[in-house]
Amino acid sequence: MRRKLAAGNWKMNGLAASLAEVEALAKAHPAPRSEVLLCPPATLLAQMAWKAKGGPVMVGGQDCHPEASGAHTGDIAAAMLKDAGASHVILGHSERRADHGETDALVRAKAEAAHAAGLVAVICLGETEAQRDAGTTLDVIGAQLRGSVPDGATAANTVIAYEPVWAIGTGRTPTLAQIAEVHDFLRAELAKRLADAAGVRLLYGGSVKPSNAADIFATSNVDGALVGGASLKAADFGAILAALDSA
Ligand code: PEP
Repeated sequence: MRRKLAAGNWKMNGLAASLAEVEALAKAHPAPRSEVLLCPPATLLAQMAWKAKGGPVMVGGQDCHPEASGAHTGDIAAAMLKDAGASHVILGHSERRADHGETDALVRAKAEAAHAAGLVAVICLGETEAQRDAGTTLDVIGAQLRGSVPDGATAANTVIAYEPVWAIGTGRTPTLAQIAEVHDFLRAELAKRLADAAGVRLLYGGSVKPSNAADIFATSNVDGALVGGASLKAADFGAILAALDSA
């Protein structure tokens, strides 16, 4: 009953020429069973949305400001993303938590702003390697979930991405049992707060590639992936999407 979602995060990568990848992806996968989302840098968002129009690929931002407008040089409001053609926004990615000191409270405020603008918030959570080694993974994830997800979250306006910090861009992934443990925990924790928790999509992120996608997608409570590096090339992201479609 949960539609699967393959989401790509281009991070600070991509120039106008990279938009050819969107056309290639849509051409190779004109009618996927899963939802497909690409989140380019803000400079490409409107152009990508234009190119993706009428096709299967949805477009999202990588961050938004918690306020609706005002004197915040360099920031982007959720309504601006929506206006540029976005349907989603990634929030609380570990790179933003680390590089910009984003707290759970700030991520929660941004998610509220995203919801108010009619965007789906893709809220990222994940433990560091030190936290996993210390055996505190579920404590960390539970605290991030409670702190980052607003009370108004629903299955329609919120997606949760579990992204262990030590697995992002490293080629390392947790075992399937470790992924299942966290995703089952997330589902149970969400059920304590949200009436429609059973419908909330839970994505795994961190070094997902064509060669490991099928195993990850067969794991308990994994409803798709948030993909960084492998989302930059249509061939790789398309192979991940195909694995999700057959899961
Ligand atoms: C990410 O940054 O969200 C991510 C999962 O990156 P990668 O797939 O490159 O590990």
